[in-house]
Amino acid sequence: MSSKFDVVIIGSGLGGLVCGYILSKNGMKVALVEKNELPGGCLQTFVRKGVKFETGMHYIGSMDEGQPLQRFFRYLSLDRKVPLSRLDQDGYDIVSYMGDRYAYANGQEAFTDTLARYFPKEKNAIRLYIHRMESIAERSPLYSFRNLENPYWQDSTNMQIGVAEYIRSLTQDDKLQNVLAGIMPLYGGVAGKTPLYYHALITDFYNRSAFRFVGGSDVVVQLLSASIRDLGGDIITGMPVVKVNFNDRMATGVTLLNNEFIGASHVISDIHPSILMDMVDTPLIRKAYKQRISNIKQTLSNFTVYIKFRENKVPYLNYNFYHYPMSSVWDGHFFYMHMCDAPEQKFVRSAVLFESMGWEEVARWKDLPLGNRGAEYEDFKARKAQKMLMNLEKQFPGTITHIEDFWTSSPLTYSDYTGTLEGSMYGILRDKNAYSQTFISHRTKVPNLYLAGQNINAHGIMGVIIGSVLTSGEIAGIDNLIKQIQNA
Ligand SMILES: Cc1cc2nc3c(=O)[nH]c(=O)nc-3n(C[C@H](O)[C@H](O)[C@H](O)COP(=O)(O)OP(=O)(O)OC[C@H]3O[C@@H](n4cnc5c(N)ncnc54)[C@H](O)[C@@H]3O)c2cc1C
Repeated sequence: MSSKFDVVIIGSGLGGLVCGYILSKNGMKVALVEKNELPGGCLQTFVRKGVKFETGMHYIGSMDEGQPLQRFFRYLSLDRKVPLSRLDQDGYDIVSYMGDRYAYANGQEAFTDTLARYFPKEKNAIRLYIHRMESIAERSPLYSFRNLENPYWQDSTNMQIGVAEYIRSLTQDDKLQNVLAGIMPLYGGVAGKTPLYYHALITDFYNRSAFRFVGGSDVVVQLLSASIRDLGGDIITGMPVVKVNFNDRMATGVTLLNNEFIGASHVISDIHPSILMDMVDTPLIRKAYKQRISNIKQTLSNFTVYIKFRENKVPYLNYNFYHYPMSSVWDGHFFYMHMCDAPEQKFVRSAVLFESMGWEEVARWKDLPLGNRGAEYEDFKARKAQKMLMNLEKQFPGTITHIEDFWTSSPLTYSDYTGTLEGSMYGILRDKNAYSQTFISHRTKVPNLYLAGQNINAHGIMGVIIGSVLTSGEIAGIDNLIKQIQNA
């Protein structure tokens, strides 16, 4: 391996892989360094007893011809190579709230008409809502490919309006307020904090079209990794970066756990910025910056039950199910998704059941060894899983009799495998009350050290890809990248 690269990237999650692909494609010699044996971060899947489970990428949107994600998939040479299965257009998401089920349908008219069947007096408010979601999303330059004269533009207005307060201003119907907030698990929403901007982007993204990966999202990792290697890049796995090296002006490379130094002209970090700060010891990064980053709270983590069903017993659900047992959706939920392993699937073989969980519930076991955290932790997980499965049974009677086996993961698992702080699902918690303090730029005070990944720009497949283009644009020229994407 050559010891001098144009770019070294810390972490091979989606953000690292997309930066690696873009910069390799632009003629740079790139090295990605990943602490785990497998690249992919949240896009990793795992197999138990012959069935595959997704860990952190269950469905995607905007993949019809010309839609925002499809444009990027084309540019990343992923389009048509990633098998997808369309979710039910009449109800890709079902929100179960206080005993009733509400469908989100694709397209603005269908969304409005479908929800208006439950809330006939509120049809105008629903229409206003879904149009506003689109208009906010459309203002984001790399999402819509409009207003490209300033691709780094940030929607500071909608980052300072709370999603819960916006929805309250739209309608006095308490039930409708909760139903419209029904996808809050997709961004780990907190009432009074989460900005409208993120809700709008995600709502519009899935409202245009919604799909599951057929056979798992790890295909994205395989394709991007193969392209990076074909373009001359290196992906080093099973080796954590422990330090970023500097001279008195800039970063010079990174040091790995085995003490190897990888020199590079540019360093990109795809890991949680707080964790990066522990690897950075230079006067170029001020204490106040480190302090600001370490003060930001994290989005919640979750407890997951991975379920294997007996063959040909449980009909495949072509939608995602968000269940809210309390009078406010902001106070607790579970969500349930089937995995698609073949087109036109009739029965499901594997499913995931999530419930949000804070780090404090598992923190007491954090220093015990992975895979051997003791009987008390095992008992905690078993009790939690049983409770969640009983709740699932209430919503889908007869389901649990068809479970062949199940496995669980807790916030400790996310922390162990993806290295996110406190096992947080989506990284830092953006707060409309402290917009500038909870917004992290992809630039740092070090001229050749950049940040990528879900803590920059936005989380999720769309947010991370857009963020990676912006980060890579600092090195390869943003106007150049925009032209390449337009011409792809
Ligand atoms: C449960 C769950 C469900 C989700 N569902 C969806 C969904 O359905 N649709 C969607 O669009 N998004 C979803 N997301 C969000 C999405 O998966 C993430 O926003 C995105 O994948 C994050 O990518 P990333 O590159 O920022 O970080 P990560 O995927 O966290 O990658 C960071 C990488 O850095 C590595 N690393 C950490 N420390 C070091 C070190 N010291 N040295 C080297 N490597 C290191 C990690 O091992 C990891 O591979 C979900 C997330 C979760 C957790």
